[in-house]
Amino acid sequence: MAPSFERSETFEKTGESIEKKKKRGGIEQGGRIDRHEPTSGFAKLAPSIKISKKYCPQILFIFRGVYSPEAQQLFIDAQYTDAADACECLGVTAHTAPKDLKLFVLVFDSQEKKKSADPFHAGSRASARFNEMELYRYWRADEDPHFPHELTHLIAHVWGESYSWVAGQHATLMMSTSFFQEGLALAVDEFCFKRQWVRGKFLDELCREYAADLAAIHSLEQCVNFDGMNTFQDTVIMPFAGSFVKFLIQEFGMDTFKNIYTHTQEILSPWENIAEVEKICGMSEKELLRRWREKIFIV
Ligand SMILES: [Zn+2]
Repeated sequence: MAPSFERSETFEKTGESIEKKKKRGGIEQGGRIDRHEPTSGFAKLAPSIKISKKYCPQILFIFRGVYSPEAQQLFIDAQYTDAADACECLGVTAHTAPKDLKLFVLVFDSQEKKKSADPFHAGSRASARFNEMELYRYWRADEDPHFPHELTHLIAHVWGESYSWVAGQHATLMMSTSFFQEGLALAVDEFCFKRQWVRGKFLDELCREYAADLAAIHSLEQCVNFDGMNTFQDTVIMPFAGSFVKFLIQEFGMDTFKNIYTHTQEILSPWENIAEVEKICGMSEKELLRRWREKIFIV
């Protein structure tokens, strides 16, 4: 996990144990994780720009740190613009989104503040938390306010019914598996927002750079679930997840991928998840991987 990569540390295995949380009443029934910030602190701050006619859920903000009103407005406008674009990209509209959908964004001017407020205490710059549809973000006012990756995680979470999952010390609501979550956010970063994950390189280029490492992946069984994904370096598995999801979306369309996303779960075995993918795509995973390799490596 290279620290220079701005990514979600959705399931970092640090922080307080569930037992400890339970003892201090921090866990609600159903495995929900308590919030570290009072809901009353969220402000209804409207964007100063027009978000065209695109659908966008309401976003509530908390700024924790020294930010001028102008900096706050810049940040707010960026989140509304990115959320509207992500909704359009994922096909989330006023008709398909839950009626009362709200996203909560907590912004911190130091990484330490972000880490301590984040329920999972992730040291990354940004994290999406599904229990309360919250996004925790370390942002300095002199930095680019746009970072749509985590918004994509939250917006894709309303594609279907979520399930509960206990990962290590954390209980969370989930949709799909970490592999497809990260893959989707990275693919959307690229084809919707034209953002590279790292070092000015796009996902397929990175896969070619790590071709030797990726040759070790001969079945999705090795990475489709969280435990398997965790056995790989981020530098290898993240571009693969992003590139493979991009391939699935390009070959089969967003609706088919949405079907995959809403039918795969961490609480299923890797082979049960692969069976879902094969059924939805009408193709064996071997054939999918062969086609993906052909597309990426045979130019
Ligand atoms: Zn992510």
